[in-house]
Amino acid sequence: MKVAKFGGSSVKDAEAMGRCADLVCSQENLSVVVVSATQNTTNELELIAGTAKEGQLDKALLLVDHLRARHCSICSDIDASPEALKEGELFLEEILKEAKQLAVEISEKRKYSKKDMDALYCLGERMSSFLFSKLLQLKTKKKVILKDARKFIRTDSTFGAGVAQVDQISNSSKKELIPDLARDVIIVTQGFIGSDSDGATTTLGREGSDYSATLIGEAIDASEVQIWTDVEGVATFDPRLIDNTRFIPELSYEEASTLALLGAKVLYPKTLFPAKRKGIPVFVGSSKNPKAEGTRIHGNCVSKKGPRGLSFLKNSEGNLLSLVGDELGSLEGLPFKKVGESSVSVSYLIEDENLDKCLKELHELVLSHF
Ligand code: ASP
Ligand code: MG
Repeated sequence: MKVAKFGGSSVKDAEAMGRCADLVCSQENLSVVVVSATQNTTNELELIAGTAKEGQLDKALLLVDHLRARHCSICSDIDASPEALKEGELFLEEILKEAKQLAVEISEKRKYSKKDMDALYCLGERMSSFLFSKLLQLKTKKKVILKDARKFIRTDSTFGAGVAQVDQISNSSKKELIPDLARDVIIVTQGFIGSDSDGATTTLGREGSDYSATLIGEAIDASEVQIWTDVEGVATFDPRLIDNTRFIPELSYEEASTLALLGAKVLYPKTLFPAKRKGIPVFVGSSKNPKAEGTRIHGNCVSKKGPRGLSFLKNSEGNLLSLVGDELGSLEGLPFKKVGESSVSVSYLIEDENLDKCLKELHELVLSHF
């Protein structure tokens, strides 16, 4: 049984969703699909909260309307039959009623809590997963079931950064997911969102949908978790920042986790923890170019000496550049200020004026080991 997660850019419109649905249909044992909100929706929900907080309720409601129109248009691109349109519009209207209600409350209070924000955030993933399930059902003979992730992703009550309750997730999945999965269906659900022991909506933190996918993978004993995004895998450095980066075919759980924790944006930092606990391989690839090699993260990598990747993090101390890989001992003597190391990383603190030059130098070092 495999789990696939599609990020916001992969489900940004009906055409993009169609590519993802084809990818799902092309794999026999892909049983759970986790989706993010459509591109930029989560930011727009933050803007709605912020605008309402300023007391600009009309403007906030206009933004809600804009969200509705954008999702309704995806809905009609998926299936323009009158019945499908009516069902879609009703569903989206119901969901966005919650947004309007929250906007009114926030504008009255002139403030919002993290709990309010989570209640607002969850609407994005609930809309995209609804739309995706409709599209997928048009493409597959299997039964597609839309499941509310709040029924099985249990967290504590830290709103905005819910701590996953792994045992509870495992127990609720036995009830909410496993019986359906035994019937050869495809479950579509939301990333990012969960609920606490009082049933209040929580979220795992921005970009947390990757983590939802591996938590589900862990709970259902998946054979693989696939993270489909807009880049072709984990790169030697952020490909949006320099141009000669390469995609790393294989990484250990430690290496991938460390890259993410030390600043690589491609994966949410906690993503690999559940996968490592259960030894589930994680694939990272591009939904636009699914034939590309991608990155495989697992526990049996062919051991490779030297740095595999570079990550960048700006924190209160300054610019932290970290080389990540196995057996980094040979890197002794590099002319940079070493400020930290672990079994798979060495971190250097770099002054602003030297950043570009050091970045290039360290990246060249990574490429020389490729
Ligand atoms: N939609 C959420 C966000 O934009 C979660 C995710 O996409 O991973 O942060
Ligand atoms: Mg992401």
